[in-house]
Amino acid sequence: MMISGTTQLLGVIGYPIRHSLSPVMHNAAIAQLGADFVYLPLPVPPEQLEQAIAGFAAIHLRGFNVTIPHKQAIMPFLAEISDLAQAVGAVNTVSLTPQGWIGTNTDVEGFLAPLRPFSLDWGTKSAVILGNGGSARAVVAGCAQLGVGQIQVVGRDPEKLQTFAASWRETCLPMNLTVHPWEKLPGLLPEAQLLVNTTPIGMYPDSDRCPLSPEELQRLYPGAIAYDLIYTPRPTRFLQAAQAQGAIAIDGLEMLVQQGAAALQLWLGQPAPVAVMRRSLGF
Ligand code: NAP
Repeated sequence: MMISGTTQLLGVIGYPIRHSLSPVMHNAAIAQLGADFVYLPLPVPPEQLEQAIAGFAAIHLRGFNVTIPHKQAIMPFLAEISDLAQAVGAVNTVSLTPQGWIGTNTDVEGFLAPLRPFSLDWGTKSAVILGNGGSARAVVAGCAQLGVGQIQVVGRDPEKLQTFAASWRETCLPMNLTVHPWEKLPGLLPEAQLLVNTTPIGMYPDSDRCPLSPEELQRLYPGAIAYDLIYTPRPTRFLQAAQAQGAIAIDGLEMLVQQGAAALQLWLGQPAPVAVMRRSLGF
């Protein structure tokens, strides 16, 4: 990649940011496209978010990704927020326009991309989502976009579950969503054609943990799609065990790549080289 006087800036803001895989993935894509851009890690402490964004506008940064802890905090500083990002309640991609910063959420597209090849009649299907944190919101929005018949969210904290359910009542996304305490999971599994783990259970270094007990795993819908948002390790214990029960496994690395590809397409106005992005992350 040649950086010259005309090179335009992209990046990712977070705090800390040093472990982000996005710079490697985006710069590989930029090099493949021969685009005159560079993508930088931008560590921004929470108390300096507003100043940082003003500075990015001043130097004409063309766009940036947003990660922990800024995905909600950035919203008041944007000129416009897409309906989807508003429904999710988080922004992960920001673009500079003549009207100012526009925020959207490509995590939803990232989640959906690996599901699109399955031509299922989603309206008759049930999805069970484990966890009700930040990434569960993108998963719920994705399931709503797919038109999943029943979206069932399982969580361990009744108060958080109720707040989660209430937050979707005013949304522009039509959906049939119910929330359930963890004890109800065994009864939900036999009907769940899609089972998504959005909890960190099983993530490195706790790689031998699994969100489902051996008894629960045996209750999986035959041919279910088991989707784990975790990408270290690949595959997780959950995906290995679900596959052993006949499930189709999808891991979190494809979501990571596809949310990045969707962001790059927004900034560059051309399709992103997804295969190169995957390879840059070693798969
Ligand atoms: P988060 O906002 O902290 O949410 C985590 C959720 O998991 C919360 O609902 C939490 O419950 C629940 N949880 C945590 N430990 C649990 C346990 N032992 N038993 C039951 N529930 C538990 O985190 P997040 O941002 O959604 O991220 C979650 C995972 O997704 C992480 O592994 C992250 O790496 C992965 N992720 C992947 C991608 C991708 O592109 N592949 C994108 C985003 C996130 P409480 O609310 O009760 O604490």
